[in-house]
Amino acid sequence: MPGGSLFSPSGPLFYRQPEIPAQIRPVANRIGLYPGSFDPFTNGHLDIVERSLELFDTVYVAIATNSAKTSLFTLEERKNLISEIFQNHSRVQVVSFQNLLVEFARQLHAVSIIRGLRAVTDFDYEYAMFQVNRDMEPQIETVFLLSSQKYSFLSSTIIKEIARLGRDVREYTPPSISQALARKFGHFI
Ligand code: ADP
Repeated sequence: MPGGSLFSPSGPLFYRQPEIPAQIRPVANRIGLYPGSFDPFTNGHLDIVERSLELFDTVYVAIATNSAKTSLFTLEERKNLISEIFQNHSRVQVVSFQNLLVEFARQLHAVSIIRGLRAVTDFDYEYAMFQVNRDMEPQIETVFLLSSQKYSFLSSTIIKEIARLGRDVREYTPPSISQALARKFGHFI
C-alpha cells in the first residue's frame, strides 16, 4: 500500500478524515456484559470492570445463577454486595440471569461479552465458551481482557479459602466483601 500499510495508515488517504460535527454524531450506548459467579467479587473482577468502562458506555455485571458450582454467598447477597460497590457508578449495572448467556446478552442489546483471562489455565474453558457462544449468536462478540499482573493469581476460590481460615482479605477485595466474608465465617474485624 503506497505511503502506509493496513497496520500503519500513514498514506495520504488517511490524512483527510472529515471531522463529524457534534450535532450529527450518533448517541452511542455501547453495552458490555460481564458475566460470572462473583462468589465473591474480588479486586481482580473490579479491575476488569474499571477497564471495561474505557471500552463500553455501560457495563452490566451479570451474576450467573445456573452455575454448577455451589456458592458461598446467595445470589441475593452477591447482588447486594456488588450493587453497593457500584452504587455511585451510573455506568455500571448489576443484574442476575438464569437463561442462556447469549440470549441474555441479546435482551440487553449488549454488543459484547466481557471475560477476564488470568493464565493459560483459564484459556481452554474460555475458548470453548467463546466458540459455543459465537456459534449460537455470531452477532455478539466476546472481548477478553488479560488480568493485570497484580491480580493474576487472584480467584474467588483462593479468597474464600484464606477468609475461611481466619485471615483478613481486605488487600484482595473491596472492603464490603472482606467484611462480608469475615461475617460469613464467624470472624470479626
Ligand atoms: P466464572 O464462574 O464465570 O468463571 P468468576 O466469578 O470466577 O466466574 O469469574 C468471572 C470472570 O472474571 C471470568 O472471566 C474470570 O476469568 C474473570 N476473573 C476472575 N478473577 C480474575 C482476576 N483476578 N483477574 C482477571 N479476571 C478475572
